Amino acid sequence: MPRSSEPAATGVVVDLVVIGAGPAGLAAVNTAADLGLSCALLDAAALPGGQFYRQPATGLRAARPQALHHGWRVFAAHTARLEAHRAAGRVRQFAGHHVWSVSGGVGAWESHALGGADGTGGPGGGQAATVRARAVLCATGAHERQLPFPGWTLPGVVGAGGAQAMLKAGLVLPGRWVVVAGSGPLLLAVAGSLAEAGARVPVLVEAADYAGYARRPGTLGRNPGKLVEGAAQAARLLRHRVAVRTRSAVIAAHGTDRVEAVTVARVDRDWRPVPGTGRRVACDALAVGHGLLPQLELALELGCAVRALPDGSPALIVDAEQRTSVEGLWAAGESTGLGGAELALIEGELAAHSIAAALRRPVPVGADGRLRALGRRRERLREFADLMAERHRPGVGWADWLSPDTEICRCEEVTAGAVKEAVEELGAGDQRTVKLLTRAGMGWCQGRMCGSAVARLAGGNDPAGTRPLSCPVPMGVLAADDATDEQ
Ligand SMILES: Cc1cc2nc3c(=O)[nH]c(=O)nc-3n(C[C@H](O)[C@H](O)[C@H](O)COP(=O)(O)OP(=O)(O)OC[C@H]3O[C@@H](n4cnc5c(N)ncnc54)[C@H](O)[C@@H]3O)c2cc1C
Repeated sequence: MPRSSEPAATGVVVDLVVIGAGPAGLAAVNTAADLGLSCALLDAAALPGGQFYRQPATGLRAARPQALHHGWRVFAAHTARLEAHRAAGRVRQFAGHHVWSVSGGVGAWESHALGGADGTGGPGGGQAATVRARAVLCATGAHERQLPFPGWTLPGVVGAGGAQAMLKAGLVLPGRWVVVAGSGPLLLAVAGSLAEAGARVPVLVEAADYAGYARRPGTLGRNPGKLVEGAAQAARLLRHRVAVRTRSAVIAAHGTDRVEAVTVARVDRDWRPVPGTGRRVACDALAVGHGLLPQLELALELGCAVRALPDGSPALIVDAEQRTSVEGLWAAGESTGLGGAELALIEGELAAHSIAAALRRPVPVGADGRLRALGRRRERLREFADLMAERHRPGVGWADWLSPDTEICRCEEVTAGAVKEAVEELGAGDQRTVKLLTRAGMGWCQGRMCGSAVARLAGGNDPAGTRPLSCPVPMGVLAADDATDEQ
């Protein structure tokens, strides 16, 4: 696998800048380079692959990096293509570069990033880089949705996707005896991977159920691959004797220095705990996540329009060619809706064709047929993604898991009681007002962890919050950027 990248640079000018080197970004940059565009690929992580193809850290010298992955052959093919394009000078790759802002407009965009001298510095690296491009593709993926409960801040409680990332990148387990909980199909992959890597997973706790999928036989019939994937996941859990409890939730974690047990309770259709059903389950780690939220900061700052997905989360609106509502800006992958790696790969490829056409590159012979076939696969997968989002939409009753002293915003230590007071007594009706009254979401993570919970407690959906900078930026970098603009 290619592991090198260029150092931070300013003054690079290309046809297309792709932000994000996950499945969507990789498919897009390789296709665009195949079509003759000069490209730059910027990613905050040290190695390409995004979440699904997350690679073991270089220093670990993993002998079989593919051991924890499915679909590695597709990734290997993409990285080989990327390497060939890099060698031929068609793609400039900047790993460890967090894009904090995109400015400009159609035909003349500037992506401002922070990177390290060796290309692996990430946000802490502090070296500014600006890449100029005629078109931008936003392939920034998603992050996890967390719904707090008593004890969720104890050491040993980690995000479900975070546990997967620890395993894939660091080859470490969050514990030896790990309960997996929350909602959504990602939990199946997480529980299976943890068990396969040697953890004991006594139970997978899912707040929704899988029976609901059967109510859409048409959608299932049009996505046989998803049924096969689901069956394979179920077989893996069975093999490792992972019990699955649906319509249940972890409503509390217990321990002093670290989590030692959790309370698992049955929940009703709205995710309200059924009285008297709570049972303690011993564990030394809890991997918990309630779905994913598209990562939208850069696109929202540029004014891109969003839609609400069936689970209440905001995603970028794109047309059939992956164009956002802002001219010259395309999006692909989970920033346009949560649908998995296969959908992200398709969207990346479609977007690249659209960008090449917009930049007046000739259409290759036979491309029309492939694009039509990709478009049809995208529609089928999106239909499945919508079903998935609808089935795992957080129920309003999750708020009943909270006690008044449960921390909702862990950066600013704002409790559920304080948020409740802001909503019920001070009349706050949205996340922003709660933030102004309580400081929830004003800390280091800027509401990425608590934003969904606060918005839902205020009676809304997941917020499409705008942030002028997508990550903390040193003042010196901002000042230098201003000075460059004035020249
Ligand atoms: C923590 C986590 C773990 C997951 N694990 C799995 C799994 O094991 N199996 C599975 O089927 N699905 C998993 N998923 C779902 C997974 O996100 C997708 O199915 C798939 O990877 C989506 O591809 P993508 O290209 O849209 O985004 P991603 O794969 O998320 O890639 C997005 C890329 O954009 C980069 N990025 C984001 N913002 C910036 C910025 N401002 N500047 C520079 N770079 C940026 C990120 O570093 C990342 O590499 C996981 C999701 C999460 C959040």
